[in-house]
Amino acid sequence: MNSSAFLSGGSFFMLSVSYRGRFAPSPTGPLHLGSMLVAFGSWLLARHAGGQWLVRIEDVDRTREVPGAAANQLTTLEAFGLQSDLPVERQSDRQPLYQRALQQLLTDGMAFECHCSRSDLADQGGIHRYCAGQRQRAQPATRLRVADGNRIGFEDALQEYFEQDLGTEVGDFVLLRADGCWAYQLAVVVDDAEQGVTHVVRGADLMDSTPRQMFLQQQLGLATPHYLHLPLLLDTEGRKLSKSLAATPVDASDPLPALRLLWSLLGQPTASLGKTSSVWRLLDTAAHQFNPQLLQRAPVQLMQAPGCP
Ligand code: GLU
Repeated sequence: MNSSAFLSGGSFFMLSVSYRGRFAPSPTGPLHLGSMLVAFGSWLLARHAGGQWLVRIEDVDRTREVPGAAANQLTTLEAFGLQSDLPVERQSDRQPLYQRALQQLLTDGMAFECHCSRSDLADQGGIHRYCAGQRQRAQPATRLRVADGNRIGFEDALQEYFEQDLGTEVGDFVLLRADGCWAYQLAVVVDDAEQGVTHVVRGADLMDSTPRQMFLQQQLGLATPHYLHLPLLLDTEGRKLSKSLAATPVDASDPLPALRLLWSLLGQPTASLGKTSSVWRLLDTAAHQFNPQLLQRAPVQLMQAPGCP
């Protein structure tokens, strides 16, 4: 179904007394149109709800971090007028919070050290159900135990109902990697809760992480935020944008054309933005004109490569 399903998750605004959203890029490179669609979309939804919007740099995975990328992303967001309502947080500064959550799960018997190697895991079809590690590793990973038959589903505010059998589809998942890096799943759950995020708006490619995050929230006794997964952006050939040439960085020195393109990719009528040449005026108009009912759940495709006249 291609029509807007915004109201299928009807409580997205109605039940929330307050709204705090966030944009949480990983510093793996400059922001491209796909990531800016999520930045602008999450900003518009927060503004529409009269809520706050935070930026958090998700830099726990040191192996994927590109030096200078975080600073570059923040400069781009600033040029696009998308500024965090509270000081920007970085996950690398928040490790004691993850440590505390991990300790709680270890104490409760929900987390365990795992010495399995990649080939041990491959023998289980890549899904960890039991430890088959042949030898003790100097630094084991720590995983969260997932019981058999643990099905978790959620009503997204835009996408169709989504459900996973965590035992068979995901298995016991990593919280702290063997290389010492915190796993995204743990860090994001701890941060969203600690920062008081009530509404998580992100790309549809993260739908299948949500049941894991809800399970972690349950184990840690944390509230589950509302979720809205924005449509994926496809290039002119129908490929996921991040895998294509169109993933070229947005031009921070000329934000207006990109903002207008993003506005229409979010299903909003181009004419409603008017003709302003000021980023601030455009954002002000956008915040007032934004209609979440026009968001589409189906992937949106670029009609021409960014930068083409
Ligand atoms: N850091 C993740 C990314 O850049 C986003 C995580 C999230 O929004 O939950 O893909």
